[in-house]
Amino acid sequence: MIILGIESSCDETSIAVIKDGKEILSNNISSQIEIHKEYGGVVPEIASRQHIKNIATVLEESLEQAKITLDDVDYIAVTYAPGLIGALLVGISFAKGLSYAKNIPIIPVHHIKGHIYANFLEHDVELPCISLVVSGGHTNIIYIDENHNFINIGETLDDAVGESCDKVARVLGLGYPGGPVIDKMYYKGDRNFLKITKPKVSRFDFSFSGIKTAIINFDNNMKMKNQEYKKEDLAASFLGTVVDILCDKTLDAAVEKNVKTIMLAGGVAANSLLRSQLTEKTAEKGIKVIYPSMKLCTDNAAMIAEAAYYKLKNSKNEEDCFAGLDLNGVASLMVSDEKAM
Ligand code: ATP
Ligand code: MG
Ligand code: FE
Repeated sequence: MIILGIESSCDETSIAVIKDGKEILSNNISSQIEIHKEYGGVVPEIASRQHIKNIATVLEESLEQAKITLDDVDYIAVTYAPGLIGALLVGISFAKGLSYAKNIPIIPVHHIKGHIYANFLEHDVELPCISLVVSGGHTNIIYIDENHNFINIGETLDDAVGESCDKVARVLGLGYPGGPVIDKMYYKGDRNFLKITKPKVSRFDFSFSGIKTAIINFDNNMKMKNQEYKKEDLAASFLGTVVDILCDKTLDAAVEKNVKTIMLAGGVAANSLLRSQLTEKTAEKGIKVIYPSMKLCTDNAAMIAEAAYYKLKNSKNEEDCFAGLDLNGVASLMVSDEKAM
């Protein structure tokens, strides 16, 4: 079974081909990072225009690499929510064009489910499990039951982790995106340099805006006093605090729900400290931590195709998974609020 995945929810135009839900024949990603860097973040209007410019070439290359033609494609999976609406609509419209021309059914996919299912491409996942979703726009603890139902049990009340990494990096002049830079700086700094108060929020919820502000305020104070400090120390204090919080809450959730597996998902799952610290902390409790390889953590279309594969696999009637040519994009939609489409 061949699924063609299409992802365009933010600033990556990606098209992938996967076979039988396990084999990635191609996963072509055209990133716009260099373009948005200049503005310190993604500019929605520019993102949409770039998707339109690139998407046909990304498809051509992806098919070529997979050594297939559109005639070999059984299903088209496309991200329809959540994301930048203009960006989403480019991928959706492109999927509709292909679907209409070649008579291939469309399976709409929730982007965050895609991030989670990236794990299924590389691991034999045991359900039920807890997934910590940490990305540019999301921070959630999700319980996934044996039947692949997604139940949100905690979320950020303000900023997402990736967003606060990017914000802190921007203020400290470290460039965009901030996550990978802060990841590297952590090992050159002292995580005890600045003591940051952890926010008091309910058990499985998060709040990162206060932590972000503490970092920005410290930097401002030092600038006002004309005092120098080592940016690595501040970055390490920031990341150390954030990762402690993520690990503790996720571990508590796994223990409470009595699961044996924790799955990391989303762009921040690429963070080396989060991966190692969570693995270390859970080992004592006999809980296994899994995460996707680096390339599958950030936005890509293979994960979208994989989510569609499981949507098909778990439905009694495959037509229930299909969308018509009236499929629309949805800018914000909680994973647990998604209706079976
Ligand atoms: P969402 O998935 O919520 O819609 P998004 O698609 O924009 O948001 P992703 O592509 O999943 O987000 O992830 C991008 C984020 O991951 C950025 O905020 C980036 O800084 C962060 N990130 C990438 N690599 C790392 C890393 N090594 N450490 C920490 N953060 C990282
Ligand atoms: Mg991106
Ligand atoms: Fe994403």
